[in-house]
Amino acid sequence: MPPRVLVLGGTADARALARTLASGEYAQVTSSLAGRVRDPRLPDGQVRVGGFGGVDGLTTYLTEEHITAVVDATHPFAEGITSNASAACRKANVPMLALHRPGWAEQPGDRWHRVASLAAAADILPEFGDHVFLTTGRLGLSHFAHLSQWFLVRTVDEPDPPLPRRSTVILARGPFSVDDERALLRENRIDVLVTKDSGGSMTAAKLEAARELGTPVIVVQRPPVPDVPAVSTVEDAVRWLESARTDHDG
Ligand code: NAP
Repeated sequence: MPPRVLVLGGTADARALARTLASGEYAQVTSSLAGRVRDPRLPDGQVRVGGFGGVDGLTTYLTEEHITAVVDATHPFAEGITSNASAACRKANVPMLALHRPGWAEQPGDRWHRVASLAAAADILPEFGDHVFLTTGRLGLSHFAHLSQWFLVRTVDEPDPPLPRRSTVILARGPFSVDDERALLRENRIDVLVTKDSGGSMTAAKLEAARELGTPVIVVQRPPVPDVPAVSTVEDAVRWLESARTDHDG
């Protein structure tokens, strides 16, 4: 029986991994999406959508679907599913790999302020001027709701309230170009950019634009990850799956 791989998805890397696995013959792949985005980019191969029902639900799924390996390729800030997957894989005795792209690296000319959480970002924001470009995603905006600055909020889908009283929402999905990001920062007279350390190229142009314009950036650091094998590229994930398969077959 070919190995059955569950890819926990919602990222470009997860789609790339699903594409590679679906085009080969050695594994059957099912990608899992949380179902938060209204019109998601669908991965190749089989796709299931929606939560599993916590650790127990995921453990049951792994067993019933005869999953032989799990790759957690969720967004580095999707803490809940990563921790659930680690616990469920332990219970179901299924090997798990974390595929999380590297975080962004600060470069000369950057004016970064690293903070541990969205709440910590909100705490220091008043030091930075009146015009904020907030790109931390649809959830968690309540941390900023009490602030009196003007916020340009960019999300893929309509953000969850409460939002800051003075805010303008733009709905857009990357990739974004440096030219467009520079123009956005200029036209809106942005004093400070707030971002998660998501990594990857899809949304990195805003950092280059901020560097060019000397705009400060508040970077929310990644949450801790469970103690599981980890790689940062799709190629390494495929290699790990091949060796896990050898162990399984052997
Ligand atoms: P989260 O807080 O880690 O997870 C909350 C719950 O959502 C999980 O317990 C699980 O429900 C369900 N869930 C999350 N990812 C799932 C998946 N791939 N397949 C099935 N169920 C999933 O997740 P989140 O931060 O809201 O992120 C949700 C999804 O959006 C993730 O798949 C992630 O890759 C993607 N995403 C997140 C961010 C971000 O900044 N957090 C950014 C871009 C994309 P049950 O307990 O019922 O299983």
